Parts: sequence; C-alpha cells; structure tokens
Amino acid sequence: MTLGPVGAGAALGPQGAVPAAGPVGPWAAMPAPTIVVVEDDDEIADLLALYLGRDGYAVERASDGPGALAAVSAHDPALVVLDLGLPGDLDGLEVCRRLRGTNTVPVLVLTARGDEVDRVRGFELGADDYVTKPFSPRELVARVGAILRRAAAGASTSTPVPAGPGGPLVAVGNVEVDLGRHEARRAGEVVPLAPREFALLATLAEHRGLVLSRRQLLDQAWGWDFDGDERTVDVHVRQLRRKLGDGLPLATLRRAGYRLG
Ligand code: CA
Repeated sequence: MTLGPVGAGAALGPQGAVPAAGPVGPWAAMPAPTIVVVEDDDEIADLLALYLGRDGYAVERASDGPGALAAVSAHDPALVVLDLGLPGDLDGLEVCRRLRGTNTVPVLVLTARGDEVDRVRGFELGADDYVTKPFSPRELVARVGAILRRAAAGASTSTPVPAGPGGPLVAVGNVEVDLGRHEARRAGEVVPLAPREFALLATLAEHRGLVLSRRQLLDQAWGWDFDGDERTVDVHVRQLRRKLGDGLPLATLRRAGYRLG
C-alpha cells in the first residue's frame, strides 16, 4: 500500500491528522469523537490516522494488545479500529474479548486475509463490523461513520419499547425475542448474543413470516447507507442458528433471503 506524496507521517499531530482548515467531516460542529487505531503496521496506521483525521476524528494509536487496552482505558474512545494480527501474546481477538468483558465501545475489526474463521470469531467476540485488507480507506471511514450513527441511534431509542407487529415480545419456536430488554431466550434461558446478532434477530422477529433479502437485513439491522458485504448477514445467521439451535424456525430461501417463523 502506498501513501503517495501526502507524507502521512508529517501531517499527523499528536491527536492525529487535523487539516489546517479544521475538520470538514460530519463532526465539524461538535467535539471530535476519538477513535483508537490498533495496528502494528505503521504504514497502514498512518493511512488510517490521515483519513480519519481528515474526517474530523481525533485519533489515538496503539501497536500491540497491551497498548490497545491501555489506550481504550485512557481515552474512552467512540470506536476502536482493531487489527487482528498483532505481535506478542495478546492478539486482536483476545483484545476484542477483553474489551467486551468491560466495555461496550464499538469495534471494527481489520482482518488480513478475509479469513472467515477470523471474521466469525471476531463477531462471536462482539465485533460490530469488519474490513478485509487490503481495504479502501474511504470505505473504512464510511463504515466508522455508519457504526457511530447506529450507536447514536441506539442510544437515543433504547428507552421506548419498539412497537413491532407482535408487540415487544416475539415468540417463535422455542425462542423468545424480547425487543424491550434486547434479550433472546431459548426455552426460558437467556442466550448471550453479540449486538449485531441481536439486531439481526430483532429485525427478523419484527417481520415475522416475511422473507427479507440480505440487503433489507443489512439496511435494517446494520443501517448501512452504502454497499456492504451481504455475506455478513450469512455469517451472523450461522451464529444465530448455532447459539439458538434447531428450535429457531429460521428458513433460508434460495436467492431470496431469510424468513423467521
Ligand atoms: Ca498486523
């Protein structure tokens, strides 16, 4: 990956790159959200800091697992961009797992090879999205924006009970989807789900009996306003089936999408 003539390192201040004209991104009128970038490849980290800084974010960097945990603890970021392949004993997946034990900060995972095992494990551990290297910095920044918008929307609508067609509690098979408490229960037992897994399940439950395409599911459960990877839906559906078992009447319709109930 080349950085071109911009000289990314020279453009970066201690808080990341902030152009002389001031932030021009969506955060220009408010305090810049802090993004912690965890990446041991300096060239990639420079590039991320440059693009995120141009969009008005304050960037803090870490290059290994302990540094990542320390940076999150010190800066209380709005989001973490987390490379999975980190040097030392504390790799990205372990960092993600430890973050999830103490923190609800959104995590966008960078995977090196489009390795589906890593993607699945990342989602299992609570990652909100992933980007496969090599990636377009613009796409990554767009995804960061989408995750933050979803997080903001979730925070502002979490109190009222969603008015789905089945009310706040949707029962399908031996699974109950509690839209008010953001919980899934199987045979009465709460099943821990990652935030995106629950969002997907809730979307399916709110449209019980209807076929939803992968695109519709992405739009509703992820809120993406650009072309996301529709296989993300398949990855999450596999997780739902694995965690909730055969009692979940979730049908795959060839070429059409998914239907719950
Ligand atoms: Ca790496």
